[in-house]
Amino acid sequence: MQTLSVIVPCYNEEAVIQEFYNRTKHVLTSLKDVDGYIIFINDGSKDNTKYILNLIASRDEKVKVLHFSRNFGHQPAVTAGMNNCTTDMAVIIDADLQDPPELIPDLIDTHRKEEASVVFCVRKKREGETFFKKLTAKLFYKTMNSLSEVEFPRDTGDFRLVDRKAIDAFNALKEKGKYIRGLISWIGFKQVPFYYNRDARFAGETKYPLKKMLTFAKTALLYFSKKPLMLSVSLGSLAFFIGIVYALWVWLGHLFGFTNVITGWSSTVIIIIFFGGVQLITIGVLGQYIGVLFDEVKSRPEYIIDEKINFEE
Ligand code: UDP
Ligand code: MG
Repeated sequence: MQTLSVIVPCYNEEAVIQEFYNRTKHVLTSLKDVDGYIIFINDGSKDNTKYILNLIASRDEKVKVLHFSRNFGHQPAVTAGMNNCTTDMAVIIDADLQDPPELIPDLIDTHRKEEASVVFCVRKKREGETFFKKLTAKLFYKTMNSLSEVEFPRDTGDFRLVDRKAIDAFNALKEKGKYIRGLISWIGFKQVPFYYNRDARFAGETKYPLKKMLTFAKTALLYFSKKPLMLSVSLGSLAFFIGIVYALWVWLGHLFGFTNVITGWSSTVIIIIFFGGVQLITIGVLGQYIGVLFDEVKSRPEYIIDEKINFEE
């Protein structure tokens, strides 16, 4: 019999966990030829998530729980689940029931029929999400695809099935700043899409405020594209070109008397401000990459586990 882990990152999800467990457990018990486990990762929640998870795990030995020592973020939580899962396959899913656990049997079917290592879920519709969220998501995927070296499927979250081959490949990756959906695309093997409608959040509110969204987008961009570094080359060339044209204009203007800028100071100030800006922007971009290098060189762990429940040693 094959085994499956459902990997669920949870941050302040007291309002949804019990319902998530009920629905998922129901699906897992209905699977005849798959032995299903659930790994909850409590990402340093400040509400009752911890107690609810401990209670569920005390009654169901197929529920495993990892408690983080603090909030490390969604991607480290999923990573911890991947690192700690020993089953033949895993499904990564959000706790808020936006991704219906009832689709798990279909994912397994697709995985078997297509002999695919990865079945990634593509959102046809996104219910209950704000216009702003959809717009920023769209812009984000567009930019990522034009900038990065790997092609990312659009409208795809982390909701997907991965088999042992993909899990092992993922776990072998050493980088600490993980953009998981990008990395899973990057590892290759056979990957097939699965289309579904994304529901509205069951309860509670999004745990991705704008600040976390921006950090997430930044990691994706910096880890998957070197094109922003080209910015300094492009801006530098542009500035160089403008400089030459301007110098010619001033010189000819002086010779033929069609401009008196040579005596003006505003032109000088404008040039200083403009090129000051260009330089700061390019240094800023460089700084972002150095920041990433700094973090990777320090090589701190992505997460720290405070407690493990129902894991055998
Ligand atoms: N999450 C987490 N740590 C965080 C933020 C979010 O583990 O710091 C989890 C959250 O509990 C949920 C999933 O990541 O299971 C996706 O978050 P959410 O549904 O709030 O994001 P959205 O669907 O609004 O993009
Ligand atoms: Mg959600």
